[in-house]
Formats: sequence, C-alpha cells, structure tokens
Amino acid sequence: MPTLPPTSPITVYSARRIVTMNPARPEATHVAVRDGRILGVGSLEELRGWGPHELDDRFAQAVLLPGFVEGHSHLMAGTLWRYAYCGFFDVLDPQGRRWPGAKSVDEVVAVLRAAAGPGVDDTSPITGWGFDPIYFGGGAGVQRLNRHDLDRVSATRPVGVLHASAHILNVNTVALRLAGFLRTGIEHPAFPLGEDGLPTGELKGPEAMLPVLDSLGLSRSFLSGDEFGIRAFARLAVRTGVTTATDLAATLQDAEVETLRRVTGEADYPLRLVPLLRLIGLKPADAVARALALRALSTERLRLGAIKVVADGSIQGFSARLRWPGYYNGAPQGLWYTAPEAMRECYTLALRAGVPVHTHTNGDEATELALDLMAAALAEVPRADHRFTLQHVQLADAAQLRRMKALGLGVNLFANHHFYWGDQHRAVTVGPERAERMNACATALREGVPLAIHSDAPVTPLAPLFTAWCAVNRLTASGHVLGAAERIGVADALRAITLGAAYSLGLDGEVGSIECGKRADFAVLGADPATVAPERLKDVPVWGTVQGGRVFEAAAATAAPLH
Ligand SMILES: [Zn+2]
Repeated sequence: MPTLPPTSPITVYSARRIVTMNPARPEATHVAVRDGRILGVGSLEELRGWGPHELDDRFAQAVLLPGFVEGHSHLMAGTLWRYAYCGFFDVLDPQGRRWPGAKSVDEVVAVLRAAAGPGVDDTSPITGWGFDPIYFGGGAGVQRLNRHDLDRVSATRPVGVLHASAHILNVNTVALRLAGFLRTGIEHPAFPLGEDGLPTGELKGPEAMLPVLDSLGLSRSFLSGDEFGIRAFARLAVRTGVTTATDLAATLQDAEVETLRRVTGEADYPLRLVPLLRLIGLKPADAVARALALRALSTERLRLGAIKVVADGSIQGFSARLRWPGYYNGAPQGLWYTAPEAMRECYTLALRAGVPVHTHTNGDEATELALDLMAAALAEVPRADHRFTLQHVQLADAAQLRRMKALGLGVNLFANHHFYWGDQHRAVTVGPERAERMNACATALREGVPLAIHSDAPVTPLAPLFTAWCAVNRLTASGHVLGAAERIGVADALRAITLGAAYSLGLDGEVGSIECGKRADFAVLGADPATVAPERLKDVPVWGTVQGGRVFEAAAATAAPLH
C-alpha cells in the first residue's frame, strides 16, 4: 500500500458514467481526487486501494467528461457585457439571462437608444457589440451601417458598435470627430468613404479602431486586466463546462498581469486562463522577450508565455486575404493585419526562444503566407515539437493541410462558422464550392494534423458542446448541410474540445483527459454526449464544472451578482 500524508484527504466521486478520453480506459464509474489532481479512475473497488476516502455521490446521476478546453476565446466575451448586445442571434449573458437578437438596422438603433438612458446633456458614450450587417443584406449585397444611422441614436454623444468579428467598428459623427477622422483626404482601405468624401464611420482593423476606443469606453475591453471581464468570463465557462480557456490576443501590461494573477488566484476562481501576448504594437524581438518574461509569472490558473499573431481579417467582413479568384461577390481583396516581414521575424525569433506562436489566418492567401514563412523559419531554426498553431485557417485546402502536417503545425478550426455564417459564405463571400471545404475537420484528421475546434467567443458564444455539434453536423442557420464530407464523428469532436485543444496549448500532459496524475478538471453533464443522437449534442445540459478538484455549480454562479 502506498503511504500518503494523513493531512491530504481523498474524495471519490461516483458518476453515472465517466468518459475519460483515455483510450486505454475509456470509461469508468468512479474517480478519486486528491490535492486537486486525479488519483485514479476506475471502479470503487479499484480506488479503495488508495486507502481511506470520502465517497461523494452528488454526481451519481451525472456524466463526467474531462473539463472542456476552449483553445480560442477572448476575455472580451466577459467584458463586453458592460455594453449593449447588438447581434443577430439570441444569446445568454454570464448570469444566464437571454438577450434577443436585433434583426435590422432599425432594431440595432432601438437597442442602442434603450441602452442610452434618458440623459439629455450627457456626453458619455453609447456602445454596442456583436453587430453583423451581413444578415441584413440579402442576396449578394451587404448593407453597411454608416455614421448617419448611428447619429439617430445620438447627435451629441459618441456612439459605437463593434462588429461580431471584433475586427470592424462603426461609429457616429461625434465619435469620428473626436478621433480626428471627420475630414476629407483620408485614402486608406481601413476607412471607407461616403459620397461626400468623408469616412462613412466604418473603421476596419486595429489601427483604424484604436483612436476611437477611448471615447467609446471600449479601451478596457481590449485589455487583459479588466476585472469585471475576468469574472464574467469565468461565469460563462462554468455554465458551459469549460475549465481551461484562452484569451487569445492579450495586451498583458504589468498592471494587467497583476490583476490577472490576483483574480485567478482567488480560492473560488473556477478557470485556468491561458492569455497569449498579441504582437500588435510590439516589435517581434520585444514580443518574444516579453513572452519569456511573462512565462516566469505563470501560476496554476494563469499560464503565460505564448504569442498571437493576426495575419489577416475576417471573411464575412471582406477583410481576409483570399487567393485567386478572390471573393465570390467581387469584393476587393482584404488586408494584412501584420506586415509579412514582422511575421517572418517573429517566427524565427520565437522558434529560437522556444516560444509558441499562434497565427490567425482566415483567408487561404494568409494561410499560404504563414506556411511559406514557417518553412523559411524552420529552415533557419530547426525545432521539433514547437506547438506553433494556425487559428481559424477557415479556407485552407487539403494541400495546405498536408503542408501543415509536414511543418509540424496544429490547427484550431472555427467550427462554429458553419452555423453562423455558412449561408453567407455560400451565397456571398466565397461561393458554394469553397464554402464546403471551410473548416475542414475531416481532412485535418485524415492528414494527421493535430486538431482543435473553437468558438472565438465573443465572436460566437462560448459553448464547446455546441462547437462539437457544429463540427459533427455542419448545419447552417438556415438548416443547410454545408460540406457533408467534412463532418466528423462525435468521438473525434469530443476529443477536439478536450485533448485536442489541450495539445494546442501544450497542456495535454496536465488536462484534456481523466487519468491518474492529471488535474481534477471535469465537465459535469446531465446526459452522455457520447451516446445522445449527434443532432442533440448541443442540447446536453451542463450542471457545472469541477476545476482543480473544486466544485462549481452553474446555477449558483447565475444567482450571485457580478462584483
Ligand atoms: Zn479570436
């Protein structure tokens, strides 16, 4: 018998079924937890061998899975709940309340007016988020919002609406003036112009958006140290079975890191956060040095030390870089968000330093660039098991996925896109043929590319079981199966939201499966996702989570006020 210190008690949880994601022992009925880690998983009889324990039957009717890992999300999914929700689809907030979608520009204006309150002389900003005009256009045209629409909300206060992609911001005339953009002679694709030669109020990409964020009160939403956001995001995680999640493009200044360490270090903080340092605004050499310094500040629930690079924009915002023949509706080519030369330098320096880099590529030209730069960087700095990962990679074809395999790159595909934008991709952005190959989960698995799938919350809601449902069914919002050949099985999808995402973050030795030695991180479910009908996967109820051996009930998080 092994000898254990008497001060460290053992809790054995019983469950209707434990789905471990460990192929050597795929299911069990009991799991023993000690010091926040899994002591063993198996039958009660087997676990008795560890010595005296307390048997906890509260999950006896529940199904336990490894705590879900969201490999591409943003703390903004919490922070944005400070502002008015202007999206098209109904959503649940961190406290579980449902907010209805706005189905037209008039409804968006009405939502913002309601959020504005009665103040007459007030100069405070009125801010919304989640907006996506692509649903209002119909056919091949896309109706754009302009500053005059938002002037209807207020002609005296700054008004801004962040798009669902978070890559585009629409503002009113006051906000444009405050930022110094209400003038003629601006010639840059980030600033569409009206017939009067003045900007329309649509600002594309971080450089154009940055100068107006302050006046809209949005600055802190783009920062990683917003305490409200850190707490609200964790609420969303508990309600969706998530125990580890990324903040995939964080600023991570000293004060923000201090706030992150303090809040995630609280005894009842229910989430392991993995913020990646964004390259924006930093020289590659400084970013790599900063990532190494941050890594040393990591704690059990705050993992630092990787870098995020954004190569291009979004396909539905027409700011992604596409290879020939470009957009289906003839929209002009998108933008490079990071200069290719800076990406090249970042890859080389990061490979040398052992700092993983995650690169956002949406269009297939952006993916091709990332592959070319990675090949060049690896020729200069050969390195095995670098864990560089391509994020979204939506339009990659089979040949590009084979190159990823050859270069040791993993992918984190944007499975939720089929549901939210699949109809638009088919009809407007890339056309029927290329829309079917988007987010090619089946091809990635077949070609042996390490696979994760994600929500990019707040772009789409945080909910890994919904993400798995998307990858399994590939249904669009209108009910069309988009790319039947790229559907994957339930077991593969569940692996992608647990071990697959853990691998992309270099955490697969700690989390992602239920087995001896790993963290006691569980998603506590009301039904078995491995055996429900695949079309019901998204409806499996989530009771809450166990994170590091601590139990968090979603209903309790719903009742308590955010502080
Ligand atoms: Zn993102």
